[in-house]
Amino acid sequence: MPQTPFNWACPYCGQSTTITYVNFDSGTIEFNITKSDNSDYNLSAEAISCPNPECGKTLVEATFWKNGFKETSGRKKWKAIKALNKWPLLPRSSAKPMPHFVPEEIRSNYEEACLIQNDSPKASATMSRRCLQGIVRDFWNIPASKMGNLGAEISYIRDRIDEDTFESIKAVREVGDIGAHMEKSVDTIVDVEPEEAALLIELIETLVLDWYVAKHRRANRNKQLQDTVAAKRSAKKASKVNMKQIEDQSDK
Ligand SMILES: [Zn+2]
Repeated sequence: MPQTPFNWACPYCGQSTTITYVNFDSGTIEFNITKSDNSDYNLSAEAISCPNPECGKTLVEATFWKNGFKETSGRKKWKAIKALNKWPLLPRSSAKPMPHFVPEEIRSNYEEACLIQNDSPKASATMSRRCLQGIVRDFWNIPASKMGNLGAEISYIRDRIDEDTFESIKAVREVGDIGAHMEKSVDTIVDVEPEEAALLIELIETLVLDWYVAKHRRANRNKQLQDTVAAKRSAKKASKVNMKQIEDQSDK
């Protein structure tokens, strides 16, 4: 089926790209099982392959639809009208690729929180809080004497984090019971809604970008600057030596 090109960010390599029909295909299976109540179902599946030659991985997603009549341009048509369920088949979760300089334990806790987000928001939130505490402790080197619950550790670094990041943390803490959950041990399992589990995951992604990625970029920029200065300095030194040699030669 010809597909209008659309923008897409690859969940494996993180690269943003435009997908055309070359890298996209879809199919539908109709299930005529409940004609008596004037509805039936279909299962549609879509596949995208990443055009980045260094990645080339495949995304597969399936959606279970309820069919019914829908009016389009004055004509009633029998078609998929409501998505009843959606499954990411490949990759298994919506976890974004995290850079290698984020500690392994934080990455694996984050991936697990994403994987179970819909099926078990409670377990996902527990994993996310453990992950958040890991981030705060690792990135800010929280001293053992200040280690406590997640809320207390965030308060401890309050003066050192920028306003935007603090606002994000505050916003998430104000939603539902997450704020109260942060005052409990990260190993305590608490009741949460799927939306709350999703917000915790988003907060992890924000903090990784604002802290680890920003720090890494800053370090790279500084390194480049220092390398440029060092290269200029040695070029200057070399040209001074050359000048001296020329002067010495002309004196002879
Ligand atoms: Zn990719």
